[in-house]
Amino acid sequence: MAAPRRGLLLILSSPSGAGKSTLARRLMDWDPTMRFSVSATTRKPRPGEVDGQHYFFRTREEFESMVAAGEMLEHAEVFGNFYGSPRGPVEQAMREGRDTLFDIDWQGGQQIRNSALGRDVVSVFVLPPSIGELERRLRGRAQDSDEVIAGRMAKSQAEISHWAEYDYVIVNEDIDRAFTQLVTILEAERMRRDRQPGLAEFVRGLNREFDAR
Ligand code: GDP
Ligand code: ADP
Repeated sequence: MAAPRRGLLLILSSPSGAGKSTLARRLMDWDPTMRFSVSATTRKPRPGEVDGQHYFFRTREEFESMVAAGEMLEHAEVFGNFYGSPRGPVEQAMREGRDTLFDIDWQGGQQIRNSALGRDVVSVFVLPPSIGELERRLRGRAQDSDEVIAGRMAKSQAEISHWAEYDYVIVNEDIDRAFTQLVTILEAERMRRDRQPGLAEFVRGLNREFDAR
């Protein structure tokens, strides 16, 4: 029987359009035990986005009262809107030994890494293969106005400047390859000896089997 494992916090960051939502969606399909941290945001929903599934869409006042009540694990202003990760579901997932996936920016990554949960963090930065391709992807998604896209492109360089704060970096050229790389990181991190607190007991069981032969 497998030894029990402690949950980890997998943080994905990238400049907008590099592909982290696509990778996150695939990872959630690949491992249904993984919990996605649904962020609260003051940004308006895009067509097709569902409240409580993609984001908790909140007014500025609602968001600020969540922060004041200590309900956010981290929060930051991105592209003129507020975004934050609600604390409750993360703490529950950790208690259940389940991993949580975050799609958050470098500011959120830094706050969680520097929090009491820092030792449970595995952070992955996703880079685009080129800036031309990043812009093509943002336009191809066809969900934002030219003005919003220009704003996101202007912020990309600043987001990319934080790449070296992350444990792993994936260049998302081919999505299948990038996804395989992400799964490889997760699987390896899950098998770290210090993430398997039941190992000593498990090996004692193997030894009892030896002794009984
Ligand atoms: P996207 O760039 O297409 O994913 O556009 P979004 O408006 O969905 O997200 C904008 C940025 O906010 C992205 O870099 C997200 O990773 C980041 N973000 C989303 N949720 C959170 C959060 O809870 N906290 C922080 N710090 N950043 C977040
Ligand atoms: P982010 O969440 O980082 O803003 P998305 O996951 O929304 O980025 O991806 C932006 C666009 O680029 C989407 O239309 C997505 O389908 C596309 N995309 C993602 N990865 C690749 C890739 N490797 N090759 C081509 N297109 C991609």
